[in-house]
Amino acid sequence: EAKQQGRNTWHLYQGDVQRITEKSVLMRHDLHTALGHDQFELYYQPIVEAVSGRIRGMEALIRWHHPEKGMVSPMEFIPLAEQTGQIIPIGRWVLRRACQDAAATYAAGERVVPVAINISSLQFRREGFLEDVQQALADTDLPPELLEFEVTESVLLDGAEQAIELINQLKTIGIKVALDDFGTGFSSLSYLRDLPIHKVKLDRAFIKDITTNRSNAAIVQGIITMAHHMDLVVVAEGIEEREQQQDLIRRNCDLLQGYLFAKPMPREAVVALPDLLP
Ligand code: C2E
Ligand code: MG
Ligand code: MG
Ligand code: MG
Repeated sequence: EAKQQGRNTWHLYQGDVQRITEKSVLMRHDLHTALGHDQFELYYQPIVEAVSGRIRGMEALIRWHHPEKGMVSPMEFIPLAEQTGQIIPIGRWVLRRACQDAAATYAAGERVVPVAINISSLQFRREGFLEDVQQALADTDLPPELLEFEVTESVLLDGAEQAIELINQLKTIGIKVALDDFGTGFSSLSYLRDLPIHKVKLDRAFIKDITTNRSNAAIVQGIITMAHHMDLVVVAEGIEEREQQQDLIRRNCDLLQGYLFAKPMPREAVVALPDLLP
């Protein structure tokens, strides 16, 4: 199918496609050896209580230190890793590393808040995912309550029942699942009703102009109200300004995440942060 797409666009933007293809062939090759060469790192970004700024959790975000290109954004290489299937070993590495980091933090009593891991739909829907999770928990002694997963609505593609069943199984173990990037793509409020999730993350696209765009503000308010009626926790992503925080506090948003509080940073740095972020 990707091949077919490639053929269709070829006629339109031959030069561009060639450049992009060459670039991604190189990157694909490098990606293949990145795990073995220990080029990945997990950064962590705090998630805070809207009203107080108290740290309530953190999100693990992968970083790739490319030997020549420097830091490559996950927005660039995660889609590629999904195409090649590399996302499976990479995702497994993220799971184990995040559990190890969280378990070490927990054991040291440094900051006991849950860690949220982004799980690609491919990884989530793959047979054996639940076993990988149980193994990671067993190997690291991390309490399951300190682990959360972030998935996007694409986990529902071909097989909503299976996704629902898996989320329920995770719930039984004690792991909560959040619906990430809500409000983009084909998001539908009925997903909130159908999925046994516990949290919804409003995409940054809505937050960016929340103080100036009345229709975005209305959508955000609608999602928050609806989500609360369904007993879901609401997180807003991409908070960069104080006005956005104030607006979201007024709209009863529970948790916030964004550069205003802290950027993603290495584990040592996030552990050293104060409990309250200004
Ligand atoms: P996401 O899960 O929606 O993560 C939020 C992204 O927004 C992160 O980008 C974060 O650094 C960025 N961000 C947070 N606060 C702000 C802000 O105030 N302003 C702006 N402009 N950006 C903010 P990042 O780290 O580049 O990750 C991008 C995406 O890559 C993630 O989006 C997620 O979909 C994916 N990703 C990252 N790490 C992993 C991973 O370990 N596994 C998988 N499967 N995907 C990952
Ligand atoms: Mg996320
Ligand atoms: Mg997101
Ligand atoms: Mg995203």
